Amino acid sequence: MSQPAYKEKNIPIPASDPLTHIREMVQACIQCGTCTGSCPNAFAMDHTPRHLWRMVLMGQIGDIFRSRTFVLCSACYYCTLRCPRGLPLTEAMAALRQIAAKENIGMHRQSIQFYKSFMDSVRRYGRVREAEFMTHYFLSMKDPFLPIKFAPLGMKLMGRRKIRLQIPLKGEGGLDAIFRKVEEIEDM
Ligand code: SF4
Ligand code: SF4
Repeated sequence: MSQPAYKEKNIPIPASDPLTHIREMVQACIQCGTCTGSCPNAFAMDHTPRHLWRMVLMGQIGDIFRSRTFVLCSACYYCTLRCPRGLPLTEAMAALRQIAAKENIGMHRQSIQFYKSFMDSVRRYGRVREAEFMTHYFLSMKDPFLPIKFAPLGMKLMGRRKIRLQIPLKGEGGLDAIFRKVEEIEDM
């Protein structure tokens, strides 16, 4: 099956392009840079939030999905609270992540699986059970070398009692109803 062209290169935005909704969200951006200045993760992003919104408006789809900016957004809402135009920037970042997940874009797969495993744990227990969440993540990635890569960090965190080994529990689905309602609203 051939890949959508925007995964390979920049193309002019067609009428039904996946960014239509996101472009509407940031249409009123005046490029003031407040979002970038407020973002605690901007230092690690390859494109700043301000630049990303410019790229959205310019239709640089290939560059947007080759960027790691939206996967590094930690949804802290600083940019949204401070944007002088009141734009829903955190929501727009999440919408980009959703497109990357839906399109299964290879370079974002690891971040998206990590996020999914994290949210599954929250959905089941109402909090993150770290060891179990990481086990689910490793299994979902089907990469036998991945746990080895994370081992030094895991040992360090265990040494500092930040995480501990846990017996897997039968998930209680504590937040199931809330998650289902959100999914329902998002599908509307
Ligand atoms: S803070 Fe708002 S208006 Fe300013 S650059 Fe960011 S998105 Fe645009
Ligand atoms: S919500 Fe995301 S993009 Fe906005 S300031 Fe926080 S981390 Fe940065």
